[in-house]
Amino acid sequence: MKDSFDLAVVGSGILGLAHALAAARRGLHVVVIDRDQKANGASIRNFGLVVVTGQEPGPSRRLAERSREIWLELADEARLDILHRGKLIAAQRPEALALLEAFKSGEHGAECKLLTAREAAAQQAGLDEKAIIGGLYSPFELRVESREVLPRLASFLAQKHGVVFRTGVSVTEIAPPFVETSAGRVHARKVVVCPGDDFSSLYPNLIARHGLQRCKLQMLRLADPGFKLHSALMSDLSLLRYVGFASVPEAGALRQKLTEERGAALANGVHLIVVQSADGSLVVGDSHHYGLSLDPFGSEAVDQLILNEFRTLFGKVPDVLARWTGSYASAKNAVLRDSPRDDVRLVIVTSGTGASTGFGLGEETITELFGQ
Ligand SMILES: Cc1cc2nc3c(=O)[nH]c(=O)nc-3n(C[C@H](O)[C@H](O)[C@H](O)COP(=O)(O)OP(=O)(O)OC[C@H]3O[C@@H](n4cnc5c(N)ncnc54)[C@H](O)[C@@H]3O)c2cc1C
Repeated sequence: MKDSFDLAVVGSGILGLAHALAAARRGLHVVVIDRDQKANGASIRNFGLVVVTGQEPGPSRRLAERSREIWLELADEARLDILHRGKLIAAQRPEALALLEAFKSGEHGAECKLLTAREAAAQQAGLDEKAIIGGLYSPFELRVESREVLPRLASFLAQKHGVVFRTGVSVTEIAPPFVETSAGRVHARKVVVCPGDDFSSLYPNLIARHGLQRCKLQMLRLADPGFKLHSALMSDLSLLRYVGFASVPEAGALRQKLTEERGAALANGVHLIVVQSADGSLVVGDSHHYGLSLDPFGSEAVDQLILNEFRTLFGKVPDVLARWTGSYASAKNAVLRDSPRDDVRLVIVTSGTGASTGFGLGEETITELFGQ
């Protein structure tokens, strides 16, 4: 029957595409429905950084490891460019270095490498050796240009796996085998809903029970600094934002030190991630402000806090080429997975890590819905 599918996926962000991929790889007939003409939410506004080191030990770390494997498979299969690999955390304070040393000696530190300031600066051109006292290099991270990779992945799913995309179409009601949309009824045996931080269109009462918030982030693109980034770069403040680091006992002393020295940055959830694009420009961020209704306005003061972190490590700040905000769902737990019905799953990443864990989650959900 026309318009009859094994699986309908609501949302064409990275989570929706990850579920479509997992289902399509099993030979299922899949439709992806999104009210936007193309993915336009968090999934294309992010750093495109697949983070493994620093994920919370347990399910998040496991999902990130599996997702990384899938990104690497897709790099070949779907010709998705990996722009750089690995991550350097540049330690500026003794408390940060102590945390990194403790992490290195723990369960997930074995394949990371502690660096002296000289080694870190030698590895990363542009980094001011005098601004740091050491660092930790993780070999696992991957960086993709999300705004290019998401459309390419969608084309790959359509061409290689016959996934059907219905864009510019809102899903209004789900009762398999019927999915009601703004463009008529779609037939699907099962449905996965990946609505990102839209809490009100589908299952609002169920979502409300999970106590979600939304988180707004500010991001900047800087002109090519004239050096090539060896890997992604993070700073001391980042160690408090990733549970895998923040849960190390040494994090307490770092938090106290940063509260004294970088109170405004902490209050605005600012930390530093720097990644590089193919044209040499840098994507730099970010900040974190929470609420249910987020204002759409970027704050210059917050941008300056981010740029100050950059200046501390690199000395000079290249011209700002672009600024944008993004938002994602946030909650105490890393992921919301719920079953409004036996044949429907709701999946929302609530820890700002969907590019890092989405593919692994997709596989788990599809196995749960369709069996081994
Ligand atoms: C600035 C920023 C930086 C980030 N950096 C990183 C990073 O480097 N690494 C990382 O792992 N994570 C990062 N994240 C988090 C990551 O981007 C998100 O976790 C992920 O993109 C969420 O994907 P999603 O598909 O669930 O949501 P979205 O990308 O928000 O997609 C949801 C889609 O669902 C559609 N939709 C919703 N409801 C309906 C409906 N009823 N009918 C039809 N369509 C509907 C929307 O139109 C939308 O396209 C970052 C996030 C931001 C904002």
